[in-house]
Amino acid sequence: MSEPIYHLPQERRLVTELPGPRSRELAARRDAVVAAGVSSSSPFYATAADGGVLIDADGNSMIDLGAGIAVTSVGASAPKVVANVQDAVANFTHTSFATTPYESYIEVCEKLAELTPGDFEKKSVLVSSGAEAVENAVKIARHHTGRAAVAVAENAFHGRTNLTMALTSKAMPYKAGFGPFAPEIYHFPSSYPYREPAPISGEEAARRAIDHLETTVGAERIACLLQEPIQGEGGFIVPAPGYLESLQAWCRAHGIVFILDEIQCGFCRSGRWFASEYDGVEPDLITTAKALGGGLPLAAVTGRAEIVDSAQAGGLGGTYGGNPVSCAASLGAIETMEDWDLPARARAIEAVIRAKVEPLVGEGGVGDLRGRGAMMAVEFVEPGTVRPDAARAGRIARTLLAQGVVVLTCGIHGNCIRFLPPLTIPGSLLDEALDLFVGAVAA
Ligand SMILES: *Cc1c(COP(=O)(O)O)cnc(C)c1O
Repeated sequence: MSEPIYHLPQERRLVTELPGPRSRELAARRDAVVAAGVSSSSPFYATAADGGVLIDADGNSMIDLGAGIAVTSVGASAPKVVANVQDAVANFTHTSFATTPYESYIEVCEKLAELTPGDFEKKSVLVSSGAEAVENAVKIARHHTGRAAVAVAENAFHGRTNLTMALTSKAMPYKAGFGPFAPEIYHFPSSYPYREPAPISGEEAARRAIDHLETTVGAERIACLLQEPIQGEGGFIVPAPGYLESLQAWCRAHGIVFILDEIQCGFCRSGRWFASEYDGVEPDLITTAKALGGGLPLAAVTGRAEIVDSAQAGGLGGTYGGNPVSCAASLGAIETMEDWDLPARARAIEAVIRAKVEPLVGEGGVGDLRGRGAMMAVEFVEPGTVRPDAARAGRIARTLLAQGVVVLTCGIHGNCIRFLPPLTIPGSLLDEALDLFVGAVAA
């Protein structure tokens, strides 16, 4: 086990007003040519990133609490990722695994089989984005079962393609104006402990979901049940203990493929290799992306060989799926996660966040602090109520951005601030960012 290596100074250092002149100039050029539907939560234009810092076009060094939306868990320029990518790209950029295959694709699938939960024979298909992985998981489940219906949790986020928009709960900005959506999607009430009117156990929350599905759809029509073990975009919602296990048992009893989407919470983010491990569940299919690719586009569906293999040859894949440069980056990222023991670093990040932020909870509109590992969120509410306060979360995010801390919001109501740093962030930077957060909450 070794410590992270950095090539950029790990410090917050502001040398211009924020955003600086160069970023403002790029923003003006952007407005002329980049689609308005593509948004950016921070006003800085990046030129470099490493460990816990992002450098902008004006030379400001900012603290990164977003990790490119949980992608750069190993940092944005980790030595093994950079070296592997440089080697791969100099050899060949692409052949298409569908025409002339290569070894790195197989190596990534071997790693996925070894690392994902479940001690059974597993196979994988590699694709380029998280949404594409979720689409393929649903394709496989439908093919395997011969059934059409897809059961999906409320407060879910699964992507922006047509099928995954249908699977996603949040209308604004993900669905509004983009319908009609794919049919045969059924949302069930999930487990959201903070927002239960009265405390209920995980088993009871699962029973509520199952009753809903049995009443409104019928178990025998359902191909798969899909859930994030920690809901990401929905607000870093950790379900009550026993909830996922009860859903898994019901799926097994009814021949329903149990799919967990670990695109955001997987690959060390939660403090374990996969968040499912906390719940003692072994999904039939698991979707991964984000941190899997070490910053390059790569996603996967991994699962029980007999389920994955039900799809006919040629039915899965794509021109770019499992691109050799992405596979090389992924192998470098996974090796880095092992060498630097990133699950342990994620747990240490959780301890620091809890120590700094827990004292605020329950007062002044800080409703809840929750999450696991380096995936923690604070939910803001109107003081003395549980009514969501998205305006406050937005103001705090803007205050932090103006001080050089790149932070993201989330939540089905947009009222959460999420802490999602690279797992390689030095402790001193994390402390500094959290002190600024505490100051912004007090202001
Ligand atoms: C980000 C995300 C996706 C979609 O991934 P893309 O690569 O943006 O298509 C799907 N599921 C979850 C849980 C995610 O966090």
